[in-house]
Amino acid sequence: MSQIKSLLKDYDLRHTECREEILDIFMSKSHALAHGDVETQLPARFDRVTVYRTLKTFVEKGLIHKVLDDEGGTKYALCKDNCHGHDHQHHHDHVHFKCNDCGLTTCLENVSIPALTLPQGYKRLETNLLVQGICDKCGVS
Ligand SMILES: [Zn+2]
Ligand SMILES: [Zn+2]
Ligand SMILES: [Zn+2]
Repeated sequence: MSQIKSLLKDYDLRHTECREEILDIFMSKSHALAHGDVETQLPARFDRVTVYRTLKTFVEKGLIHKVLDDEGGTKYALCKDNCHGHDHQHHHDHVHFKCNDCGLTTCLENVSIPALTLPQGYKRLETNLLVQGICDKCGVS
């Protein structure tokens, strides 16, 4: 738990019980989590709005990032060190992979999204690329 406390501190976040619990959930999972997944793993005393606000704060601070899922839902994944590029900007230009078998979405941090050229007048803010298939755990059987 002390690791979580120092992480919150690093990101300039005041320590709250809800933040600590949510961060703990993200750190114990290697795949992306939807709002509902987080909620079901939390003690019932935290309401929907608190959970929603905490996730939003974590995204704004760069602790977690959004992962678009195929069913139109948004999931969240913990940011890793390589979110911070040499340009000191925070970016998530890596591919996300959704396994059709186990249904889990994971960050492929070492697979970057190819550069895209947009028509004139379009400004890119973020890019999401979701690859669907069978993950390494489900493929080995
Ligand atoms: Zn990040
Ligand atoms: Zn799988
Ligand atoms: Zn990711």
